[in-house]
Amino acid sequence: MQKNERDYFSQTYAEAREKFLAAAQRTGSSIQSYPHPALRGAQGEELAMDVALLGRADALDMLILTSATHGVEGFCGSGCQIALLEDASLVKRIQAGSVSVLLVHAVNPFGFSWIRRTNEDNVDLNRNFLDHAFAPENTAYAEIHHLLLPEAWPPSPENKAEIAHYIEMHGSDKFQLAVSGGQYQFADGLFYGGTKPTWSNRTLRKILREHGAGKNRIGWIDFHTGLGPCGHGEKIYAGLNNAGDIARARAWWGDDMVSTHDGSSVSARLQGVVRGAVYDECPQVEYSGIGMEYGTAPLMETLHSLRAEHWLQNHPEASIAQRNAIKQGLRNAFYVDTDDWKRLVLAQARAVSLQALSALGSNSGLRMHAS
Ligand SMILES: [Zn+2]
Repeated sequence: MQKNERDYFSQTYAEAREKFLAAAQRTGSSIQSYPHPALRGAQGEELAMDVALLGRADALDMLILTSATHGVEGFCGSGCQIALLEDASLVKRIQAGSVSVLLVHAVNPFGFSWIRRTNEDNVDLNRNFLDHAFAPENTAYAEIHHLLLPEAWPPSPENKAEIAHYIEMHGSDKFQLAVSGGQYQFADGLFYGGTKPTWSNRTLRKILREHGAGKNRIGWIDFHTGLGPCGHGEKIYAGLNNAGDIARARAWWGDDMVSTHDGSSVSARLQGVVRGAVYDECPQVEYSGIGMEYGTAPLMETLHSLRAEHWLQNHPEASIAQRNAIKQGLRNAFYVDTDDWKRLVLAQARAVSLQALSALGSNSGLRMHAS
């Protein structure tokens, strides 16, 4: 029976994990699971980072596809990974070719299951991959922390006015950077980078060391949601600010690849990003990577949902009705549960995956065709 786009997506982390493992098994991929040592999911289920290796283990070139670095964004990324595993002709070509594909499902399984963007430590993983001794100070965030997370929720008219005033004074780009640029001072705050490497950080590094050893080239696509026009996937360069690396990534993914290094991206410029791990753990490889950032809702709505969910985390006394509404709001802000959106998402995921496979295979005989 022909599958519909929506069949690849899931309504819970537990469902997504089950589908991912079943699809990986059907392809004969080699599977490894890294269960969380202490915590369970929202339905009492096991939480794990699951890894499926498709293609030859001794391939010199490898494409990595990761989902749920930002927990709740895993509804999208997991669907993209499962759709690829269910694409029989693509799987066949990967198995016959010289480029392997490493799918890492749920880098942040806790956030995926509990509908948080952050992990079990309230840490944004994409701010956690740095030497914490040199974590930058975000004084702009410190100024507005109390406004972003007021005592009462929903925010009062005074609170709204104060935030509007800040944006008027500093501009919306500065506001976005202050809020989302990452901060290391407020453990209960937004976009918090933590004080040490998290479980996800340590586990992902272990996976990279093991699977990246001996590779020549690594491509990496990390699936995200929440920024940009609804349904559009922005290809955000994920690598060092180095002209040669940027040019190579642009040759892989096209001129519409943007970069936070030159301000062309919807995202603010960040430190402590996950991709740093590949430079540390696989120093010998030629690495090219992007974050695939799918738009969902307008930025201020998404931010409002994030503030609400952080407020909820800091106010466990909130009513069940308010809790459910806030969690649903966050989910909606990072996952558009419609067939149209999913169709757009999958088509673009397939395209960027094929582009990476084609580039990686270009020197070793494998050619991928998008037909
Ligand atoms: Zn994200």
